[in-house]
Amino acid sequence: MEVEILEEKEKKIRFLLKDAKTQFANALRRTMIGKVPTMAVKEVDFINNTSGLFDEIIAHRIGMVPWKFPEEEYRLPENCECDSEEGCPNCRVEMVLKKEGEAYVKAKHIKPTDKKVTPVNPDILVIKLLEDQELELEAKAVLGTGKQHAKFQAAVASYKYYPEIKVNGEKVENSEEVAKVATEKVKNADGPIKVDESILYSLRNTIDIEEGDEIEYLEHRDKFLFEVETVSGIEPRKIVRKAIDIIEEELEEFENSL
Ligand SMILES: [Zn+2]
Repeated sequence: MEVEILEEKEKKIRFLLKDAKTQFANALRRTMIGKVPTMAVKEVDFINNTSGLFDEIIAHRIGMVPWKFPEEEYRLPENCECDSEEGCPNCRVEMVLKKEGEAYVKAKHIKPTDKKVTPVNPDILVIKLLEDQELELEAKAVLGTGKQHAKFQAAVASYKYYPEIKVNGEKVENSEEVAKVATEKVKNADGPIKVDESILYSLRNTIDIEEGDEIEYLEHRDKFLFEVETVSGIEPRKIVRKAIDIIEEELEEFENSL
């Protein structure tokens, strides 16, 4: 297997996975979405809430805030050595929020005891307080996975088979771009077909072809185009890495249990 990074941004990575099986590509996708642990608030204790919103609604909103956290330092509660309901500094973070008077209460006003834990977006709005209102609460954040609850989902990940386009038998450089605008007629054809007016019209801005040329659309069943966008506090590249580690661990566990 081989990986080629095509594009890497703060929130998104696109890469090509070569010489792989569909089963592996699928396992990788599902692991990135469902098994990479992220941090979110699990429990909220209200000390005072005279705002216009019910406790449950505020708790839900706080629960949806994604957090950046030092990944090596925290464990999933079920994997933590403390083995307790209460948790310990390795598997949970205490947070407090106290605000009164007219204010927009945002994610940045929730203060974790661990300073290395910060909201991905400090400006996520939790609630707007009016002049005579007050909100005070304590919260506990833990690691969890997308499989357990959507609020723990690390990434949105998808893949498709890598397209290859040939014109008169010659591979086109920008196949991916051409594939995006190619019509069903081209994509579903069995082998090369003659370029007609409608094909020419759909592809005219992406490749240099003429009516009567032969075009062929191929899909590589062992080459996958991945797109991974983080929706958590973990960078896209780290999500891919972590997913690979998890798959490895699972295989090892399976081997050991045999
Ligand atoms: Zn613990």
